[in-house]
Amino acid sequence: NTSLHELDPEIAAAVDAELHRQQSTLEMIASENFAPLAVMEAQGSVLTNKYAEGYPGRRYYGGCEHVDVAEQIAIDRVKDLFGAEYANVQPHSGASANQAALFALAQPGDTILGLDLAHGGHLTHGMRLNFSGKQFDVVAYHVDDAGLVDMAEVERLAKEHRPKVIIAGWSAYPRQLDFAEFRRIADAVEAFLWVDMAHFAGLVAAGLHPNPVEYADVVTSTTHKTLGGPRGGIILAKKEFAKKLNSSVFPGFQGGPLEHVIAAKAVSFKVAASEDFKERQARTVEGAKILAERLTAPDAREAGVNVLSGGTDVHLILVDLRASALDGQQAEDRLHEVGITVNRNAVPDDPRPPMVTSGLRIGTPALATRGFTAEDFAEVADVIAQTLKPSYDAASLKARVTALAHKHPLYPGLNK
Ligand code: PLP
Repeated sequence: NTSLHELDPEIAAAVDAELHRQQSTLEMIASENFAPLAVMEAQGSVLTNKYAEGYPGRRYYGGCEHVDVAEQIAIDRVKDLFGAEYANVQPHSGASANQAALFALAQPGDTILGLDLAHGGHLTHGMRLNFSGKQFDVVAYHVDDAGLVDMAEVERLAKEHRPKVIIAGWSAYPRQLDFAEFRRIADAVEAFLWVDMAHFAGLVAAGLHPNPVEYADVVTSTTHKTLGGPRGGIILAKKEFAKKLNSSVFPGFQGGPLEHVIAAKAVSFKVAASEDFKERQARTVEGAKILAERLTAPDAREAGVNVLSGGTDVHLILVDLRASALDGQQAEDRLHEVGITVNRNAVPDDPRPPMVTSGLRIGTPALATRGFTAEDFAEVADVIAQTLKPSYDAASLKARVTALAHKHPLYPGLNK
């Protein structure tokens, strides 16, 4: 019964410091969010103690009657949320969901077609150091000069290389993909269509983004980005893929499922079906549009700041710093200095190396969860625009950030 503080003060101090960091700064990493206390309660529950290899009703261990209930609720809720015929809620992360999905659809050595990492794709879509790039023959498509996925190139490459799987999804792209067009191309070359909606799943759940489940053979997602749940992954699919996907997750790539995380996923799916969640996702997208508008205003353009594709339809913007005196690393550091956390991000055909980059990815999900309104997002956007100018007043910008953080307290109940 010893508390964390008593048993391990070093780790307790790191946890406390991280809570303080989250409370006192503005989190604008596009893939992050704040999980509700109820989600963290489920994740920190006794379910962490249970082994449950297998699936509800078909386990390789005794005593699974209660985790079966929780896992079945998670499955049923996520199927309802996205209108899916099949769901697997066991993948430990987005990358493990993607690995299981890819190996269910294709064999090592098969050709896959995905969005280039440097143009906004994810590591698991064919990056050369990732399992996907090492074990599959990768062909990559790109964005065009306007910053939009080049569907003519997708079709040309699909016809030329006849991939087994076409991957539609992204980690850094500010627009919606044309799933119907991806489906048409996949059908034309008899490829499977796999959509990775890790980033925009929350928008889909809220009805603010087309639902890929209607078009794709398999859809994967994380549960912790716009969806706002615990860290983890899910796979949705048409019924006919159920057996293959189940066996690819377990015993293919995983052993015992994390039942405490699965219970937390179930809680987050309940939240995601609520009206409050819809309203929050609407503020998320509105906030991103406000950022895009402010960072394309004449004074930002004068400072060499621009926004890729000219705006956004989702929860993030990509700032283009190719014309700025600041590189991605310097811009990230400056924003950190005033209390705003973002990540630097390569722009297409980036002249700078990947550890430096010429861009930033800035997202609004965490601040929307924190309660930020359009007015608050306008204030954040202005702070960012001022910080990226050649000369900036760090102290006054930081004071504006602190005022916003105080206006929207985060996890007040967790303060000691
Ligand atoms: N897929 C996409 C599109 C992502 O952006 C990410 C995470 O950044 C993942 C998958 C991987 O998720 P995880 O970090 O949980 O493995």
